[in-house]
Amino acid sequence: MIAVPDYLEPYAQNEKRGGEYLSFDIRCSCGCESFHLRKNYLTAQELMIKEEYMRSRPRFRRVQGELGEDGKIHHYVRRFFFFRQEVEIPEAPAFDGVQVVKAVCESCGREIILFDSRANGLDAELASEAAREYVPHFREDRPQYSGVCVWLEQDWDRTVDPNLFTWIRICRKKAEKKRYFFEAETG
Ligand SMILES: [Zn+2]
Repeated sequence: MIAVPDYLEPYAQNEKRGGEYLSFDIRCSCGCESFHLRKNYLTAQELMIKEEYMRSRPRFRRVQGELGEDGKIHHYVRRFFFFRQEVEIPEAPAFDGVQVVKAVCESCGREIILFDSRANGLDAELASEAAREYVPHFREDRPQYSGVCVWLEQDWDRTVDPNLFTWIRICRKKAEKKRYFFEAETG
């Protein structure tokens, strides 16, 4: 049976389970159940770097990798079925793929990290050292408070560890109406 991941355990209430999913509401340690949700964004400069990176990536459909004699992964494509051409895959910028969502408590201002792609979920261990050191940006937007619901899914064939969920959805909740705020596949 899927369990609440350790990092959300202190804030989870009203747990509901079915098959491979688990949903629960968030309550702050001060007792408040109203939050402002925030997710990180890329600055104009980071977007430019990302665009540059996307442009510099090879556009071949089937890039294959092979461990070379030098101990490094070499990427190549097959052209005309047999001719093998090595390609350079540029290193992704540190912020690429970093997703962080947090809930700010209306009463006490505590910030609860609901999801950090570098720390939570099945793919978190793939995050690079640079990605882990990256400090994400959050907008100072006007707070909109509501209840918060988290929905997790787990792929039992791959893991039984509740921290290694494979899908997360975060919803705003107002008068029993739920609205998606964030969704990510994590493995
Ligand atoms: Zn609080």
